[in-house]
Amino acid sequence: MEYKSETKNCQNCKKDFTIESDDFGFYEKIKVPPPTFCPECRQQRRMAWRNDITFYNRNCDLCGKLIISLYHKDKSLTVYCNKCWWSDKWDPKSYAQDLDFSRPFFEQFRKLQDKVPLPSLFNDDGIGSLNCEYTENVTFAKNCYMVSMSWFIKDCMYGYSIGGPETSDVVDSLGIFHYSQIIYEGIFLEHCYNCRNCYYSSALNDCSFCYDCKGCSNCFMCANLRQKKYCILNKQYTKEKYEKILADYHLETYSGSEKAKKEFTEFMKKQIRRFADILNCVKCSGQGLINSKNSKDVFWSRAIEDSRFIWRSNEIKDSYDLTPGGKSSESYESLTSDHDFQVLFSIYSLKSQESSYVENCHSSKNLFGCSAIKHGEYCILNKQYSKNEYFKLRNKLIEHMKKTGEYGEFFPAKLSHFGYNETIAMEYFPLTKEEAINNGFKWWDDVQKTINKETLKKEQIEDSILEVKESILDEVLACDLCNRNYKITKNEFLFYKKYLIPIPRKCFYCRRKERLQLENPFKLWHRHCMKEGCQNEFETSYAPERPEIIYCKSCYNKEVY
Ligand SMILES: [Zn+2]
Ligand SMILES: [Zn+2]
Ligand SMILES: [Zn+2]
Ligand SMILES: [Zn+2]
Repeated sequence: MEYKSETKNCQNCKKDFTIESDDFGFYEKIKVPPPTFCPECRQQRRMAWRNDITFYNRNCDLCGKLIISLYHKDKSLTVYCNKCWWSDKWDPKSYAQDLDFSRPFFEQFRKLQDKVPLPSLFNDDGIGSLNCEYTENVTFAKNCYMVSMSWFIKDCMYGYSIGGPETSDVVDSLGIFHYSQIIYEGIFLEHCYNCRNCYYSSALNDCSFCYDCKGCSNCFMCANLRQKKYCILNKQYTKEKYEKILADYHLETYSGSEKAKKEFTEFMKKQIRRFADILNCVKCSGQGLINSKNSKDVFWSRAIEDSRFIWRSNEIKDSYDLTPGGKSSESYESLTSDHDFQVLFSIYSLKSQESSYVENCHSSKNLFGCSAIKHGEYCILNKQYSKNEYFKLRNKLIEHMKKTGEYGEFFPAKLSHFGYNETIAMEYFPLTKEEAINNGFKWWDDVQKTINKETLKKEQIEDSILEVKESILDEVLACDLCNRNYKITKNEFLFYKKYLIPIPRKCFYCRRKERLQLENPFKLWHRHCMKEGCQNEFETSYAPERPEIIYCKSCYNKEVY
């Protein structure tokens, strides 16, 4: 059937958004009504369910062990350590509830969520990973600290979206993949080795402060170079001259690093940029997209097919609205969907099929409104039914939810286990407490943050890492920007010493925030190529008011290759 595109008004932000003809085909196929929230509000709502970096100490409610958790101990939630949560020591079906067709579904689901134990963190520390206590959504990793949404990595710290294979020693970085090692302050890199402050690049060796470079080695403060060696500010030098200039910058000092950062920022203002970092894709739009086809509005993802509104995902087919997802197909409106098939409206669903409105359910099929079911089938609100009863009741429930206006929408943000300020929604859509509450989000006042406890002022930290002594491990520092106290860990100290990186003057949270701000928003604008005389148009994540010089693909390639 052919559909016409339609303009709808978002029930949340009241802005218009368009549902295109292909979109109607998708919603028809998965049998859900078209969304009533715009793509951005949908993303924000999902994100309000994901806490990546706000950790607390508490006890496991089953074994009593002191654990690291995403959930503050004062929240009325049952939280188990990973080993207990994944064990057979408890039965999620013992929390089964009967359906009540006189009440809205989400209200009943909330009651279930309040009782069913949650995993303290979503990582496999002590199971598939080793020594990764302070990580979230990390699997098959070794010796990682303060890392989230990452897999198959080792010895990484303060990272976000880092993926193997053979990826290690990545510190303070975002979106680093495939055979990358010794990376400091990197964004969107692959196949890079020993690089510092490099962005949107691949196959670099021993480079620092480079943007959109490929196959280069020993380059410093360069942009848009291909297969070059010994360049500074895009100018060719001899090896000896290059080494002399680089040494004179003293990147091992805080002052030298800051000077380089400022000069690089100025240099970048005059460099052209591709309208989108899209590589090896057919009929795609978005940013940071690799090896994909027929997919629109996809961000920081690879191997995506026939999908839309996908964020930080891998190997996705026929799916919409995944934040993020891996190896899922025909799935929709899900937060962290992994190896799923036909899973709609899910939170941390793994290896499941034909299920809807599920949270922390794994290796299951035909579940509706369930929490923490593993290897289950035909359950609603964690209650076991026969196959016939299940389908009868599920269909009745869907009709009920259509009447209450609940069916087809993600879990409301007010049901989230987290305050808005504890989640990644706060990083991408910052709100004040008042704004958050007015918009139906929750807020958590007791976020752990110490200030005024510093034992060493920033002026007292040695400028050069060569001068810094191990005694800094006993000191409490204060962030240059937000005053939050922070400490340098042993492994971090050893990394800085080994790779001659000055001690950071900002806390981890501010460093992460600055990095995220270097990423474009997940939104596209229709714009023209800025090369004089070129009439090409494109969809770009660079907003029209931004200062960057944006070129279409052919103009960019003419200047760069
Ligand atoms: Zn909206
Ligand atoms: Zn336990
Ligand atoms: Zn800070
Ligand atoms: Zn052009």
